[in-house]
Amino acid sequence: MAASDISAGLSGDPDRDPQLGHVVVSEAELRQRIAELGKQITDDYRDDVPLFVGVLKGAFLFMSDLARAVDLPVEFDFMAVSSYGSATKTSGIVRIVKDLDLELTGRRVVVIEDIVDSGLTLNYLLKNLATRDPASLDVCALLVKEGQQKVEPPLRYVGFRIPEDFVVGYGLDVAERYRNLPYICTYRG
Ligand code: 5GP
Repeated sequence: MAASDISAGLSGDPDRDPQLGHVVVSEAELRQRIAELGKQITDDYRDDVPLFVGVLKGAFLFMSDLARAVDLPVEFDFMAVSSYGSATKTSGIVRIVKDLDLELTGRRVVVIEDIVDSGLTLNYLLKNLATRDPASLDVCALLVKEGQQKVEPPLRYVGFRIPEDFVVGYGLDVAERYRNLPYICTYRG
């Protein structure tokens, strides 16, 4: 393999990596929408200290950029879940791989999710978190796949509604690759 082939694979540039398709959300669009979401959350939670609960691993970039767009004291915790199902479809049976460190009692919780497809993963998580007595429980999802939801979890904040194609980048992976792309694009593999 030539050195240029290796760098093409590593760079994840859709012009050079044949596995990647077209850009669905560009870097500039992400920046602008996240600034808007940050302002909205700042207004909605004024005088409060929201607790951002990030769903690992996909939400880590979004959560970090969103938090910097919020002009309030914010606290953070993380959950990691693993969904049973095929490589690209969830079954709705979810296992908590890493639970929260903090108590939710009386807290205003904002769940930060990368993408809502069937909605089953988020639905399970919300039911679980609701039993822990938070003062409020909202969701901020970066991406929602249009028309794919089998259940409709309540989504207070949505970044972008996108078509059903499988996407990677900006936190989203295939076998742990492509998470560091600064934009979201389709995956052809
Ligand atoms: P759901 O339970 O809503 O069907 O699936 C949610 C989870 O499936 C997401 O948190 C994500 O891990 C994964 N997922 C769904 N659609 C995509 C996609 O287009 N690309 C990637 N990389 N993961 C996806």
